[in-house]
Amino acid sequence: MKYRCARCHTEFSSDEDTPRCPTCHAESGIEPVHRAGLPMRLFGTVLAAAACTALVGGIVARLNG
Ligand SMILES: [Zn+2]
Repeated sequence: MKYRCARCHTEFSSDEDTPRCPTCHAESGIEPVHRAGLPMRLFGTVLAAAACTALVGGIVARLNG
């Protein structure tokens, strides 16, 4: 599990329930780092393309009456 310290912005990995920053030893303000992986980004792209297609299709259908 990767975390980032809100105080000094150090990124570190820890498996503990209460992770502690290795740089400034802060216990609070430690936030989990969520990186969007490639599958998630691909899914987002497909979703955006589908939304665009639906939007354009709707406009065209409306223009054609
Ligand atoms: Zn820190």
